[in-house]
Amino acid sequence: MKQNYAVIGLGRFGGSICRTLVESGQEVLAIDANEDRVNEYMNIATHVVVGNAQDEMVLKSLGIRNFDHVIVAIGEDIQASILVTLMVKEMGVPNILAKAQNEYHARVLEKVGADRVVHPERDMGIRLAHNLVSKNILDFIELSDEFSLAEIRVSNPKFFNHTLLDLNFRQKYGLTVVAIRRPDAQVIVSPAADQIVKENDSLLVIGNAEDVDLLDKKLN
Ligand code: ADP
Repeated sequence: MKQNYAVIGLGRFGGSICRTLVESGQEVLAIDANEDRVNEYMNIATHVVVGNAQDEMVLKSLGIRNFDHVIVAIGEDIQASILVTLMVKEMGVPNILAKAQNEYHARVLEKVGADRVVHPERDMGIRLAHNLVSKNILDFIELSDEFSLAEIRVSNPKFFNHTLLDLNFRQKYGLTVVAIRRPDAQVIVSPAADQIVKENDSLLVIGNAEDVDLLDKKLN
């Protein structure tokens, strides 16, 4: 279903959200206080506006309250990001995603009503660090405080040619295998218990981060 989005702040983060939304066929209003930034998006976004989003009249005149989603992608100016999130919330926008610079900023954004807070730099740092310290962990994404999604390469022959039932990751490690990726790029989604794990497969598992680390150690 087509929804309408407003992206406030066209830095690297807001800009890439804007492009991707448009590419997936969504209507996007792009707003930035900087005219040069706005000009860059003139032929990309559905509508573009030069304006200071901290000015309530600007948000009102753009009819921000009628948008399904607002993305507050203001970078360095933490005060502006908080104030804009608060105003957008008060206007009744149902889905607000805001970008945080640090943990304190994230907590404030949640308090003033952001439905989702992201930390792109921190999250990318976590993903890469897991991959750097372990040759088996190909990717790692925190889904919540409790759960993470990890892609782990099955590199230990002990695990080769066994079914998921035999390997019993759920009982042994509290990890659920949601998909298996084969070296030929085939992906088996929601594999059955009798699915055989082969050399060079990688497993997409959901579980807590400590359990992912435990499995990673067993693989070495
Ligand atoms: P990133 O780290 O995503 O590249 P930046 O800090 O470079 O983030 O970009 C943030 C963007 O937000 C800038 O283009 C800036 O002009 C814009 N911006 C900052 N404050 C406001 C505001 N009050 N109203 C509208 N745009 C703003």
